[in-house]
Amino acid sequence: MLTGKHLIAGEWVDGLSTFENMPTFGDADTFFVGTPELVAKAAEAAEEAFWSYGYLPREKRAEFLNAIADEIDARGDDITLMGTKETGLPEGRLQGERGRTVGQLRLFATHILSGEFLDRRYDEALPDRAPLPRPDLRMMQRPIGPVSVFGASNFPLAFSTAGGDTAAALAAGCPVIVKGHSAHPGTSDIVAQAILAAIKSCDIHPGVFSQIQGGNRAVGQACVQHPLIKAVGFTGSLGGGRALFDLCASRPEPIPFFGELGSVNPMFMLPAAVAARGADLGTAWSGSLTMGAGQFCTNPGIAVVLKGADADAFVEAAVKGLGEVAGQTMLTEGIASAYYQGRDRIAGTAGVQTVLTSTCDTRTATPYLFMTTAKEWLANEELGEEVFGPLGMVVVADTEEEMLTIAKSLVGQLTCTLHMDAGDTALAQQLMPVLERKAGRVLANGFPTGVEVSDTMVHGGPYPASTNFGATSVGTLSIRRFLRPVCYQNIPSDVLPADIA
Ligand code: NAP
Repeated sequence: MLTGKHLIAGEWVDGLSTFENMPTFGDADTFFVGTPELVAKAAEAAEEAFWSYGYLPREKRAEFLNAIADEIDARGDDITLMGTKETGLPEGRLQGERGRTVGQLRLFATHILSGEFLDRRYDEALPDRAPLPRPDLRMMQRPIGPVSVFGASNFPLAFSTAGGDTAAALAAGCPVIVKGHSAHPGTSDIVAQAILAAIKSCDIHPGVFSQIQGGNRAVGQACVQHPLIKAVGFTGSLGGGRALFDLCASRPEPIPFFGELGSVNPMFMLPAAVAARGADLGTAWSGSLTMGAGQFCTNPGIAVVLKGADADAFVEAAVKGLGEVAGQTMLTEGIASAYYQGRDRIAGTAGVQTVLTSTCDTRTATPYLFMTTAKEWLANEELGEEVFGPLGMVVVADTEEEMLTIAKSLVGQLTCTLHMDAGDTALAQQLMPVLERKAGRVLANGFPTGVEVSDTMVHGGPYPASTNFGATSVGTLSIRRFLRPVCYQNIPSDVLPADIA
């Protein structure tokens, strides 16, 4: 079932050394460690493939995307089994995530057929215009060339081998090199087999897709530094993303690095809503905060409330809800250990009160809840840093003015949430212009963990939520990252690309 190898331009390739995955059950599986030389081979094959793949009719690319989706579904049970074994995520989550992954591929197939993403513009020739004639001008978006993709540990399918970045790049016409995630190499192996089957059935140049397994940081560095790579799609931590972003910027030819990073996703609990249903909100928050062991980039880690009895009822209900959640297995031992360190950092910060504590061991997460004042929060930037896991912080403001000051102090976020009733409209109107400067998505009366894959979705935001606030990594708009505009001036129609002729 598993190859344990790298997929390079249609061939399964081995190497000199190996590493093992970290199963939550059963025996470990062995994989070959990648090397920069393998990345170079994949990049050369990708560049060669671009000359055919980048110029295929959109119908053919759509057929390829749909074929990948079908091949993934055909391996559904194997993927779910390996995914649960490697990540500890439950079976239903893996099945749901597969649905999202094939849905993204199919959505992009439909999207490119419509042609809307080409953003075609025409300025008709004006030969008689004085004092100067105007030439015939046309513009459309073109694929940029080979793209490297890094997935995240917490989405072994939807942000991994055939995830959103790969789907968007292939839809745009760009060959893809995936740096396999060391937390789920077996899941990535099976998905790469599905992509290879689609390459064969659709008769596409095999250089269009390669996957080099990790096990060595030099592989990731080569994926962003190879001169034939023209952009990088990255989902992962702030530390890793920043290191790779800096490498992209320092290349002789700098390239765009689209890093989707972490976030604490603050929620502003406005007073009328908290008065009307504070306890219900506390209970609902505890559910959202602990979903998937809190391992979501959109996990709502911060709740800002106004001091008073209503806020106390909110906190009480959250403590009760969180206290009922059993320990959950985390994605890797490394992530569990980072969670414990984050918890200790917050617990040891002066001015922070521990409201709910618990005990975790090796790879298990249990919830924690902390509370602090707006003044302490504003004085201590570190309290706004992501702790990846089921950990919440309540920030108590004395006044609405203080709530606004907290909003203004935020760094970039993937999401900001307002919980509000009609009586909160005036305060919400004051917060809105601030929050839309801070986040890629602002929502009311919901929790940010569910991310719809659609035309309007923006999953991004100002740094450090992402390294490129003009982009999204989810939804059809994400294709823009792998396109660039070209203007055609007075080009004869039989020389123009078919889509603009
Ligand atoms: P990660 O540790 O940064 O790993 C992501 C990928 O980057 C892995 O392939 C990793 O290689 C590689 N990498 C990291 N640092 C590197 C370096 N210095 N040089 C070369 N390669 C490097 O992130 P993660 O643990 O998988 O994911 C959890 C984080 O992702 C959380 O912070 C979460 O909030 C964020 N996340 C964000 C989004 C979003 O859309 N914004 C979605 C999901 C998750 P190895 O395989 O060798 O470790």
